[in-house]
Amino acid sequence: MRSTMVGIAALSILTAIIMTGCRGHESAPIDNTSGAKRTFIMIHLEAGYRSCKENNLPPGLSIPDDFRLKDLGWQEYFWPTVIELVQKADEFGFKLTLALNPQWAEYILEDNAKVNLVKTWQENGHEMAFHHHGFDHPDWNGYSNRPEAENDGLYLGIVNDGYMFVENLASPYRVSSGTHSDLPLDFPSQMDIPNADIIFAEGNALDSYPQLGTVKSLKPYREPKPNGGFRVHLTIREYSTVMQISLDEATPILKEQYKNMSGDEVFGIVWHEFDYYRSKDKYIEWFKFIQEQGDKVQTMENINASYFYP
Ligand SMILES: [Zn+2]
Repeated sequence: MRSTMVGIAALSILTAIIMTGCRGHESAPIDNTSGAKRTFIMIHLEAGYRSCKENNLPPGLSIPDDFRLKDLGWQEYFWPTVIELVQKADEFGFKLTLALNPQWAEYILEDNAKVNLVKTWQENGHEMAFHHHGFDHPDWNGYSNRPEAENDGLYLGIVNDGYMFVENLASPYRVSSGTHSDLPLDFPSQMDIPNADIIFAEGNALDSYPQLGTVKSLKPYREPKPNGGFRVHLTIREYSTVMQISLDEATPILKEQYKNMSGDEVFGIVWHEFDYYRSKDKYIEWFKFIQEQGDKVQTMENINASYFYP
């Protein structure tokens, strides 16, 4: 995400939220009769494309040149971190939503052993989702539907081209969830299947913490798609190491929000693979907190199913 660090990127994400968030919609205030709160954890797996090529890594992060200068070197460097994170979630019985920039799916697809590992994750209940960094993002993934992007030396193709790596990796499971920038232009049409829902995770640091801006509602809503099914909107709270407040400052605020949420709300939280690499203890603390509340982390697909199709 890294949107808090660069005004333009933050603006484009905010614009995307505004553009997708305010048309006629319905919400379904459903009591969660089990008493357990609905919560999901989305992991944004970053492109590491422009940021490696331009040596423009997230603030405070460095990776060895052996990896930075190599195609998909970001992925190679952080792949053990992703494995470790999924293992940790499994220890807690939590189901993650892993949102992949195309480079991640491309990297995993190069090796059958890695593909097979991802299959076991899916069979175990983790979800593969899509994450797109548009042309203005400091770590653009090279895919864009904007005409001006085609003249950039880092251009790789239209967004559908990038998305297909993720779809191929996730197959035979469908990719239904994502966090996208440059909406609506950059939405991958391949992801839009008739009579099937598309689930958007929306939010950033600026709308997660009262000292940074206006805190966004945690209440899901949805609007019908023209071809059947719904566009479902879930809120995510950013909990990353590249925010304008530290994790130590952010943690008690999010815990308080979590404890005070009502039965018709859903608590989504997002961090990146490199955040887990840097501050594992803080993220494991969050796992423990959810466990202490007596709750289970579900995937975005499962949240959509239980919330809107009880
Ligand atoms: Zn991102």
